[in-house]
Amino acid sequence: MIAHIFADLCSGCNACIATCPTHVFDFGAETPVIARPDQCQTCYMCELYCERDAIYVAPDQHAMEAVDPDAIRTSGHLGQIRRDHGWDRPREDGHLDPYRFLGPLLREGVEAAERRFDKKLS
Ligand code: SF4
Ligand code: SF4
Repeated sequence: MIAHIFADLCSGCNACIATCPTHVFDFGAETPVIARPDQCQTCYMCELYCERDAIYVAPDQHAMEAVDPDAIRTSGHLGQIRRDHGWDRPREDGHLDPYRFLGPLLREGVEAAERRFDKKLS
């Protein structure tokens, strides 16, 4: 689940806001605000799209974890999913570059779920 944004690393590009399929973030004065952590589905798309490696998503899908930002910073976890998936590397490198296409697919899934939920309410 979303755990922390490192303000000193963040460029304020807002890519994480645009890519999060469940609208966890709000715009902030300088960095995005983690406004709805309970809506996080631990998909890691915000980490993948953060070119500054300024976001940490903790592995527990069900509960928020209190993390020590300094420990995360020195652990090597920041940007790890980008490195492991070959994000920004050419496909011939053998990494899972098509993983980036999951973002729109996840968003479609959320929209389909919202439509079903709306129907149940009406
Ligand atoms: S994607 Fe990364 S650098 Fe851009 S606003 Fe979000 S946390 Fe900051
Ligand atoms: S892990 Fe996925 S759902 Fe959670 S904040 Fe990041 S993009 Fe949004």
